[in-house]
Formats: sequence, structure tokens, C-alpha cells
Amino acid sequence: MGAPRIHIIGAGMAGLAAAVRLRDLGASLTVYEAAPRAGGRCRSYHDPHLDCVIDNGNHLLMSGNTSAMAYLGEIGATDKITGPETAAFPFVDVGTKARWTVQPGKGLIPWWILDRGRRVPDTKVTDYFSTLRLLSAGRDSTVANCIGTSGALYRNFWEPLTVGAINTAPTEAAAALMRPVLMETFLRGADACKPRVARTSLADALIDPALAKLSAAGVNVRFGTRVRALTFEGRISAIETDSETIPVSAEDIVILAVPPWIAETLVPDLKVPPPGQPIVNVHYRLPRAVTAPGTVRIVGVIGGTAQWVFARGNPDLASVTISAAAAVVDQSAEDIARACWRDVALALELADAPEPASRVVKERRATFAQTPETQHLRSSAATSIPNLLLAGDWTATGLPATIEGALRSGFRAAALAAQRLSTHPEAP
Ligand SMILES: Cc1cc2nc3c(=O)[nH]c(=O)nc-3n(C[C@H](O)[C@H](O)[C@H](O)COP(=O)(O)OP(=O)(O)OC[C@H]3O[C@@H](n4cnc5c(N)ncnc54)[C@H](O)[C@@H]3O)c2cc1C
Repeated sequence: MGAPRIHIIGAGMAGLAAAVRLRDLGASLTVYEAAPRAGGRCRSYHDPHLDCVIDNGNHLLMSGNTSAMAYLGEIGATDKITGPETAAFPFVDVGTKARWTVQPGKGLIPWWILDRGRRVPDTKVTDYFSTLRLLSAGRDSTVANCIGTSGALYRNFWEPLTVGAINTAPTEAAAALMRPVLMETFLRGADACKPRVARTSLADALIDPALAKLSAAGVNVRFGTRVRALTFEGRISAIETDSETIPVSAEDIVILAVPPWIAETLVPDLKVPPPGQPIVNVHYRLPRAVTAPGTVRIVGVIGGTAQWVFARGNPDLASVTISAAAAVVDQSAEDIARACWRDVALALELADAPEPASRVVKERRATFAQTPETQHLRSSAATSIPNLLLAGDWTATGLPATIEGALRSGFRAAALAAQRLSTHPEAP
């Protein structure tokens, strides 16, 4: 019996989190990644048209994302994210041109909703009682079942928050997924709900520092290595890539950290949630600076095509997110960019500026379908196959398909792997 090995398939956030946690355990660790780069649905690349590095999409974290903050600490990248000093969410309404800022207060009890200047305009304190229905929602409820679909609080807060956090309209989004979002951020006070984004790029903040840690620990990360099949003999006995068959012993552990639509092709009879809504992002090279280098400005847009605008300095870039984008994704890039630019110009007060060069990025399979019907299709990390563990934003984390969920799933799989290895006679 040789020393056990750990095979991690997929170098997205889930696979990287597992690898980072397991890197110093002493077991031989290999990561197989089909793409030429790590990051999966959370990646960066140089765009020749804009002549700068862009992300496949804006990725918003919150200061209350405990797994994300732990991961950043472990890879030494805490200073690679940025955001406003205070928990403040500025909005602009495209129709009325009204601007306001939602500012959760410091305490655990949301006294801030008593303050007209901090809460959503045109809302009464009693409107916020619907939050209680959301927190106690059953597993079959949608967000809209709990909070309705009318009124200023719905239009200016619940709808953008649900679409942004769950990539699904409130009429279809699982209420059960909104509960942890609220409990871990908005209902923990201002310190837990400061928006946070990568200072320059996702690669710089979340990927490259992790790869550096793995490299320093001697972890073998094999890019361009697609796992084509897994061989099962009561357990996984081999990993087949496009070019070789890698034997897997009974003591070895395989952590499968691929998206659900790939996982179901590799593991027989595995139930997975189906793909959900697309997310569309538009990046513009801005004609002038709207924020200082290394900082970010975030504006929520109500009633436009754009939903959130993120502006960075150096390079001066504005990026738009359109989540739950089924109605937009098939439009031409030119039409999407033109419609969003009107919203960006309003949000960033650039009304006189002509539409600049842009890049539209359409992620058709951005997340799994986050409806009540799919929640029971999310698998736990441990499986009935003895040497197979699962990770990924779609596994049973209880969280929406987010970086936080993906990282938590990777940490969970790593903890289970470490536990199993510790009982091995040749444990390091
Ligand atoms: C446009 C967009 C915007 C988003 N915005 C946010 C946001 O604001 N905040 C937030 O928290 N989350 C956001 N998300 C969600 C977040 O990106 C995902 O939840 C997270 O990245 C999923 O990570 P993962 O590791 O579970 O999966 P993936 O990122 O899909 O990683 C899986 C990896 O497995 C690899 N792989 C696949 N098949 C194979 C194979 N056969 N062999 C080897 N490797 C394979 C893939 O190449 C990939 O690298 C967004 C997603 C998108 C697409």
C-alpha cells in the first residue's frame, strides 16, 4: 500500500479552495484543469480590443463572506480586494433620475430601517416586516411568495438584491437561498455587509496568489488536462484524461470540483441541478477617471438594462452586470453595449461622453437553476462512492451559487479528505 494521493478535478474556486487547504498535508496532490488557466467561472484574461485585463464578470463579495475572507487570508491576498469604507449601496433610478444610498447600520438589530435617510426611499418601516417571512420560508417558497412583487421596497431593494445574489427573478428564486445571504450579511450589521471586489482583477486577487501557494507547496497543477471519464469498480479505480489513464487506489481520494453539467457526465446516476440563467457583463474603457486607481465605485441601477455598474481606476474601466439575463443574452453585443452605456453614463455622471470601446461577455451557463424545485438535487460532499468527494457551488452548501458557496464546498471536501487521510496507516 503506497502513500495515499489526492486528485482534485477542476481548478475553479471550489477546487482551488480544497487544494489550498490540503497543500501542506503531506499527501501527493494533483489538480487537473481542462482549461489553460484556473478560475473557471471566475476568471480574468487580456482583452485585445480593450487592451487591458478584464474579468469574465463582476464578482461581488461581502465582508461577511467568512469563507472568502478565510481563503484570502490563507493565500495572502487580503489586500487584493477593495470596497467602500462603510456599508453603503448607492442606487440611481433610470426613469426618475432619483439617487439614494441604502446604508445598513452597525448593530445586529436593523435600527437603520427607522432612519428615513438610510432606508430605501418611499418605504415604511412596516414594509420591512416581510423580511421575517423570508427568514422563516419553507423549502417550496420563492422569494416573491414571501415578499410579494409590488411596492417601492420590492422594486428598489428585493428585486435587485435577489437577482444579484441568486441570478434568478424573485418569482422563481428559492427563498431558502436568500435566508443565508441575509443572515450572514445584512442582518449581521454594517461590518458584515460592506461590498468587496477585486482591486484589479479576479486573477490578481483570487487565483494567482492561490496558484503561487500551491506551486510553493509542490502541488502539481496540470492545465489543459481534461478528465474525460472516471473508471468505477465499486470505487474510482482510474482517471482518464484525453492522453492517459491514471490509476487511483482505494486509499486515494478524488475531489470532483467541476460544474454540475460536467459532474453528471462523469459520475453515473449523479443527480445535479440543471443550468439556470445566463449572466451578461459589458466592459467599457472609460474616457476619463471616475474613481482613484485601486478603488472601485459600485452603483445599483433601477429600471435600466444594466443592473449594477462597477467602475475602477487605472485602467479606467466600467463594467456592467446583467444577471438573470435570459431576455438580453440573445441580443447583439452592439445593442447590449448601447443600451447599457446610457445607464452607465447616468450612474457615473458621464452624460456628455460618447459610447466608448466595449466588450460584451455572455456567460450562458453562469449558475445552476436556483429555484425551490432544484434544491433537493444538490449533492453532499460525501458520496456513496468510497473515494469520491464532491465540491462546487452547486453542491449542498445551503448557499446560492457564489464564490462563497464554492469556497465553502471546497473547504468542506478538504476537511473530509483530511479526516480520511488521518486514519490511514501511512498518514504523514
Ligand atoms: C458572469 C458571472 C458573474 C458572477 N458573479 C458573481 C458574484 O458577483 N459574486 C459571487 O460570489 N459569485 C458570482 N458568480 C458565481 C461564481 O463565479 C461561481 O459560483 C463560482 O466561480 C463557481 O466555482 P466552482 O469552482 O464551483 O465552479 P467553476 O468555476 O465552474 O470551476 C470548475 C472548473 O472545472 C474545470 N473543468 C470542467 N470540466 C473539467 C474536466 N472534465 N476536467 C478537468 N477540469 C474540468 C473548469 O474548467 C473550471 O475551471 C458569477 C458567475 C458568473 C459566470
